[in-house]
Amino acid sequence: MTTCELCGEHAGHHYLCGRHTNRLAQQLADLPTLYAEVGECLVPRRASWGDIIATKGAAGPRSPLNEDVLDTVNVTRAAEVMRLWRVAVQHERWPQHGAPAPASLTADCRWLAMELDWIVAHFPAAGDLAREVGDLETEARSIVGDPAPRPQRLGTCVAVTADGGICGAVISRLPGQTRVQCRWCQYVYETGLDWMRLQHFQPKVAA
Ligand SMILES: [Zn+2]
Ligand SMILES: [Zn+2]
Repeated sequence: MTTCELCGEHAGHHYLCGRHTNRLAQQLADLPTLYAEVGECLVPRRASWGDIIATKGAAGPRSPLNEDVLDTVNVTRAAEVMRLWRVAVQHERWPQHGAPAPASLTADCRWLAMELDWIVAHFPAAGDLAREVGDLETEARSIVGDPAPRPQRLGTCVAVTADGGICGAVISRLPGQTRVQCRWCQYVYETGLDWMRLQHFQPKVAA
């Protein structure tokens, strides 16, 4: 029996618990997009990379950017970090193979995601891998911001309207929201019974 390297919870014979395994899978899937966004956020519209490097450390007008951020949070560094992890995992799993051919951040993240079952079961540094991926994500989020919470579609409104029909407007809520008013008929969904009725009376989707 082992415990999760991140949260100390029971993890069976694995290095990470189920929750942290899922989170790592999601982070590996998101990282390439996130770093593509970082690139868009950090390059000022009217400057090329050459201009940014030229102004670094020089006296005179400074780039409005925090240039240290450019050194540490960028796709090149993220790709280097993930490359080292791919090399380490491959070496541990297939020591007879040579180093993997050069690949993009996207390809390395996808490869690691595909090996995730093996990693959490057999790779002793799985916790360090998860922590570093988490750091890369946090650093990128500090620049691009957190994603806006997306409304979840719960179904169509089941309230009976004044003319005796069923309202049928789309009911959606933000994660964590417990009270929703139908924008069409003003019916308020709030109690457990309301949510149960909403679920129960959803029109059956034709097969
Ligand atoms: Zn955990
Ligand atoms: Zn309604």
